[in-house]
Amino acid sequence: MSFKLSISENIKKFKSGLPEGVTLVAVSKTKPVSDLMKAYDAGQRIFGENKIQEMVEKWEQMPRDIEWHMIGHVQRNKVKYMAAFVSLIHAVDSLKLLREIDKQAAKNQRSISCLLQVKIAEEDTKFGMDEAEVRSLLSSEELKELNSIKIVGLMGMATFTDDEKQLRSEFSKLKKLYNELSQTHQFTTLSMGMSGDYKIAVDEGSNMIRVGSAIFGERNYN
Ligand SMILES: *Cc1c(COP(=O)(O)O)cnc(C)c1O
Repeated sequence: MSFKLSISENIKKFKSGLPEGVTLVAVSKTKPVSDLMKAYDAGQRIFGENKIQEMVEKWEQMPRDIEWHMIGHVQRNKVKYMAAFVSLIHAVDSLKLLREIDKQAAKNQRSISCLLQVKIAEEDTKFGMDEAEVRSLLSSEELKELNSIKIVGLMGMATFTDDEKQLRSEFSKLKKLYNELSQTHQFTTLSMGMSGDYKIAVDEGSNMIRVGSAIFGERNYN
């Protein structure tokens, strides 16, 4: 298929095609506000960005009923710029970062929801925790003192491959961990799946997908 749907048609297609209970995060990094507004006008209210500065700039220009998700790696010294409005931080990978998010959330008299990023890909990635680190973070005494953050689930990125068997196995591993930890933690959100692999991710139990290029088209980084 070579024909291209518009941004608004893509949003409508996702909204009608996704199973109930699966939330769509429209990943709008590198895209202009005019593109985001096309998605907004088609009913999309959740947008994901991977750079804090870019998210702040878009937040300033766009309607206030948007939920902004930070899906990228977070530098501690930049948490303060988004603490007033960010609604979910997907890629938390240390207690140190949680401490800073907690501090900035408290300053803004709000609570910030976070997901722990778990390493599930076979390829060597810099970010994310292994299962043991996740368990140890969740059971640490210090976490109990952080009253302005809420850990509401897990996030993972699969290997960049079209080997369906491998994708399935990576997603199902994360779902298993999610189910297990859900017994002792109040989890609501399992963020896995992107443009190339969201169908498999949803099949394996994802309830939040992060989709960029399948909505907005290929990104141009020049
Ligand atoms: C860019 C990005 C996505 C979306 O990628 P697409 O392949 O364009 O859908 C999802 N998750 C994260 C963490 C990203 O950085």
